[in-house]
Amino acid sequence: MWSWRTLLHQAGHGLLNLVFPPHCVICRSAGAWLCDACLERFPRLDQRVCRRCGSPLVVKNASLCDSCTQDPPEIDGVRSAVLFEGGARQAVHQLKYAGYTVLATPLAQLMAQCWQAAPLPVDVWTAVPLHVARQRERGYNQSYLLGREFARLVGLLEMSGTLRRVRATKAQVGLGAVERRANVAGAFAYEPPRGKQGVQGQRVLLIDDVCTTVATLEACAIALKRAGAISVWGFTLARAAPASDL
Ligand SMILES: [Zn+2]
Ligand SMILES: [Zn+2]
Repeated sequence: MWSWRTLLHQAGHGLLNLVFPPHCVICRSAGAWLCDACLERFPRLDQRVCRRCGSPLVVKNASLCDSCTQDPPEIDGVRSAVLFEGGARQAVHQLKYAGYTVLATPLAQLMAQCWQAAPLPVDVWTAVPLHVARQRERGYNQSYLLGREFARLVGLLEMSGTLRRVRATKAQVGLGAVERRANVAGAFAYEPPRGKQGVQGQRVLLIDDVCTTVATLEACAIALKRAGAISVWGFTLARAAPASDL
C-alpha cells in the first residue's frame, strides 16, 4: 500500500529533494532535513559515564555504575554520542518510523565527530540486526544506515559474515533490566562467510541507534565472542536515561 514511508524510502536523495524540498524534520525550516541549529541543540552526553556500559553516572567520582559493579555485562563497553531526549529523540523517531532515511547522513556525522574525540579500539563494524520480518516491514535497518555512513566517515571496514537475529523478541519497552536480558538471550547468531576469514581474532564495533539498557548489545556481543571475536564494543547514536523507553 502506498505510504509516505515507502515513498520517502524508495525515492532516494535526488528525487526526494526534487519532489519535497528539504525541510528540517524538527523545526521545519527550509534547506536541510536536519538543520545545524537543531543538531547543535541535541542534548550532549558530556557528564561522566560508566566506563563499562556508558550510562550517565549518578554517583560522582564513581567509574562504574551499580549494575556493572554487581554484574558486568559481557560486552567490553558501550558509548553513545548524545542523550535520547529532545531533538535527538525526534530525529530517531523520524529515521526509524517515518521513513526519513536521509537523516542517517547528518546523524552519522554527529556520531563521527564524537568518535574522533574518543575512538574505541576496533577493527571492523557491524549493525545490530532487525528480525527479518521487522526489516521486511520497515524496508531498511536504521542502525545499518547509520553504521554505513559512520564507517565511511571514520574509515572502518564492515565485518565479514553476518550477525542475524534468529528469534523474534518482545519489544523491550516496559521490561526491567533482568527481563530485558532474558528477552534477548540467544536471539542472535553469527554466520561466517563462505571460504573467507570470519570474525575470529577481530575487535568488533556494534552500531545501534539507541541504547536503553545494554541487553541487546550484550546478546550480540555474546554471539560474536562465541564465534571468536576478541573484543566487542557498542557505539550508539543515542543513550536513553535508564527509565525512558522508545
Ligand atoms: Zn531545525
Ligand atoms: Zn555500567
